[in-house]
Amino acid sequence: MRIPAYSRRRSSGRGLLGMLQGRLPIILLVIGGLAFYWFSNQKEGLSGRKQMITMGVEQEVALGDQSYMQILSSEPVLCGGNATSCGTDERQVVEVIETVGERIARAAIEWEAEGAPVLGLGKTRGEIPKWGTLADKFDWEFKVIASDTPNAFCLPGGKVAFYTGILETAANVDGVAVIMGHEIGHALARHGAERMSQQKIMQFGQMAVGATVGDMGAGAQRAVMGAFGAGAQMGVLLPFSRAHESEADMVGLELLTRACFDPREAPLLWERMAELGGGQRQAEITSTHPDPVRRAEAFRREMPKYLALYEQKCGALPPR
Ligand SMILES: [Zn+2]
Repeated sequence: MRIPAYSRRRSSGRGLLGMLQGRLPIILLVIGGLAFYWFSNQKEGLSGRKQMITMGVEQEVALGDQSYMQILSSEPVLCGGNATSCGTDERQVVEVIETVGERIARAAIEWEAEGAPVLGLGKTRGEIPKWGTLADKFDWEFKVIASDTPNAFCLPGGKVAFYTGILETAANVDGVAVIMGHEIGHALARHGAERMSQQKIMQFGQMAVGATVGDMGAGAQRAVMGAFGAGAQMGVLLPFSRAHESEADMVGLELLTRACFDPREAPLLWERMAELGGGQRQAEITSTHPDPVRRAEAFRREMPKYLALYEQKCGALPPR
């Protein structure tokens, strides 16, 4: 009996497209739905970049508060309620973090009142995003966690934590201000809400693709999900993370300069960060953070504007 040619073609080595045949309309519908959802939630952020944010500030702040409470109750807070001791050195560290944080938070409130320009992002005249000012509404808190992990964060709502493991790299008060400004920059630019919104849409997309490939063989399902997952990671999440980092760097530089910390410390801080990685950093393309050397370069490129801003706000720069 003669075997029809098409059935041989269909059974041998079908490609990804072959496997998707027949399901294409559903997949296109899902992609179209996601795209509509994506575009209808676009908001122009601090840098002028469109950000996809599907939650309100209140919800975001509530999530920030909740995470902060969880972290503080499970980690040793320096001179905090669960601290076994609080010596002079510990007290001093806490005071430095609180003082730097409060100065930058105050500068952020004034900066937002001026329309939140970011010289390093080419925004010499500011316009507050549609979501309004944030720094004046945040209930700011600054804590130090006794841990060797080199880490620091500012959660939505102005909840800041510095880990003692980052203090050696910070090296001085201006270095603390560079890290503080960067972390507060993430919070004021609502990067947390943006990441959560992106994750939500990615999960939904993966669920939808998962449902449409449901009756394929296991190998075929893996191929489709793998292709989708890799695209989701490389195409959407990581480049946005790099954009987040660069934005936070420049918002941070703006804030620390306005708070009269020395902007010249910013590139030096990131050069010290590079050493922290022990030379084992991932290639920049697969890393969620820009290469520290590139960051230092970006800071140096924008420095003349910030030196001028410093002198305008704070007087002559201290000699170095
Ligand atoms: Zn960052």
